[in-house]
Amino acid sequence: MARIFVITDRRSEWKALVSGAYSISGEKPLVVTADKAIAQAAADFGADAALMSGAEVFWNYTDTIAALVEELQPAGCFFGTSPDCRLVSGRLAAKLGISAIPDAKSIDNTYAIEHLIYGGSVVQTSKSTGKQFVALFGPGQFEEAAIPEQGTVMNVDYVEPKWQIAVKEKKTKEISAVDLTAAKRIVAVGLGISKKEDLDMVRELAALLQAEMACTRPIAEGLDWMEPERYIGISANFVKPDLYISLGISGQVQHTVGITDSKVILSVNKDPDCAMMKQYSDYCVAEDLYKIVPALIERLKK
Ligand SMILES: Cc1cc2nc3c(=O)[nH]c(=O)nc-3n(C[C@H](O)[C@H](O)[C@H](O)COP(=O)(O)OP(=O)(O)OC[C@H]3O[C@@H](n4cnc5c(N)ncnc54)[C@H](O)[C@@H]3O)c2cc1C
Repeated sequence: MARIFVITDRRSEWKALVSGAYSISGEKPLVVTADKAIAQAAADFGADAALMSGAEVFWNYTDTIAALVEELQPAGCFFGTSPDCRLVSGRLAAKLGISAIPDAKSIDNTYAIEHLIYGGSVVQTSKSTGKQFVALFGPGQFEEAAIPEQGTVMNVDYVEPKWQIAVKEKKTKEISAVDLTAAKRIVAVGLGISKKEDLDMVRELAALLQAEMACTRPIAEGLDWMEPERYIGISANFVKPDLYISLGISGQVQHTVGITDSKVILSVNKDPDCAMMKQYSDYCVAEDLYKIVPALIERLKK
């Protein structure tokens, strides 16, 4: 079987993608990256690495990656889900004359890919009609397992694209160190929380439980009360903790597709008929979270 390319610009996700690619094809994957640290770490993890350089932004590497695909003829390309990966995967797929498959959940050894469609409410299985496939896997889709070999790093010639994207301005952004996909306990909040300051009591509860804090998308994108790395669902993280506590979350499918691998789900919601309570929870508390969270904190402190 041909090897799979793993294309990513995020230090948090390449190991899982490499492990998944190796388990499917049985061949050492090739990590294609512009990050020297990722390339070296990938070789130590057992994969080979192709180190690109010369472009100011990751987006401008599409032609370089396409040339590598043409030369090495991989079975396909696993992409991560960063904004850059989404953009480059689409451009690469267009160059290969196929479709990029976003929101991929799993892949078998015939390269049939299960992926979410209709906002996460339906799982569809698709196969590429071209020589390669291009699929985007979010965090948490594969277990990390090192390959018992040492890989090599090769340098790749930059292929200058006809249309380059130029950087006009750069703003630094704080990167959150949280890795929800590895968390054993998660306390997640939704729009049932009415003020940003009220997150402090949830933070206290999470600390007492030694849990990570997480949220639904509107809390992170829209209200901007928590970092985007902390929201769960189709557009972000898929988690699999032993305990997932949901506080004021209604259970819309775009969120719940990311929590179904949790071992135990406990929900607190004023509405006993919401989907989170009726369809997804092992334990339900039909109450105001503003009563339950302080009571839990008090009990845990004792
Ligand atoms: C293309 C697309 C992608 C999306 N991707 C994601 C994604 O990845 N992740 C994600 O999370 N969302 C995603 N969304 C948004 C998603 O559809 C929902 O809008 C969102 O998940 C709802 O968040 P929520 O449960 O916090 O809010 P709501 O649906 O408003 O629910 C709030 C809940 O709080 C309860 N409540 C209110 N007050 C209290 C109280 N005092 N005590 C207890 N309970 C209370 C209410 O009964 C209600 O059930 C996506 C949407 C689209 C269109």
